[in-house]
Amino acid sequence: MNIAEVLKEKIESNQTVLTEFESKELLQELGIQIPAQKLTISKEETISAAEEIGYPVVMKLIAEDIVHKSDTGAVKLNLKSKEEVETAYNELMNIPSQADRKISVQKMADEPITELIIGMTTDAQFGPALMFGIGGILVELLEDVSFRIAPITEYDANEMIHEIKGFPILDGYRGKPKADLDAIVKTLLKISDLVVEHEEINEMDLNPVFIYDKGLVCVDARIILKKKEENN
Ligand code: ADP
Ligand code: MG
Repeated sequence: MNIAEVLKEKIESNQTVLTEFESKELLQELGIQIPAQKLTISKEETISAAEEIGYPVVMKLIAEDIVHKSDTGAVKLNLKSKEEVETAYNELMNIPSQADRKISVQKMADEPITELIIGMTTDAQFGPALMFGIGGILVELLEDVSFRIAPITEYDANEMIHEIKGFPILDGYRGKPKADLDAIVKTLLKISDLVVEHEEINEMDLNPVFIYDKGLVCVDARIILKKKEENN
């Protein structure tokens, strides 16, 4: 995959929102780990994708008009057999959608120490800004996040991680293992490099990223590009 070419193609065809599948492929290209994933369009294809990936799998309905997938029942977790995949397929196909629909079959990732959110937004004055936080209610309710303008250094990335109030959750809180902070630092730096190199990216949302004592896996992502006329 040539990232510059992919982004150019999307902008030319006025597709400014990359699907979860496309966004995660791009992250994989950067060296950020994602669960094995396959796009399918029929029940037969979905079953063989699941068997190839290996149970347990996750199935998600991918369509342009479905943004918050779990709110509409478009995420089926922990499917352990062909029968469960078939049932999930039928249920996903019952969700109303006007758009072209596909199914993303992906490996069910192991339970993390915690879920993280890594994001990027474009500030009118300062350009790309990176965001980091711990997922779930810590982000939604407490707005416990840190920001830095890109490009960031390794020092900045470490500060972003340490300055959130929820940091103890990453640091072995109540006997849990310590999170792989170095993996978070490296991911923040990769996102920083990407958005500095590609000004055509307007917004990124890696939500959630599963963090472990060794490594991390991004299980959901969305990349939004600037419109044709906003790029020069
Ligand atoms: P939404 O569009 O609602 O944000 P997500 O793709 O984030 O949908 O899925 C909802 C939740 O399901 C995630 O927050 C995560 O906890 C879980 N999840 C999604 N994909 C996987 C996966 N491949 N492995 C394990 N858990 C997953
Ligand atoms: Mg999500």
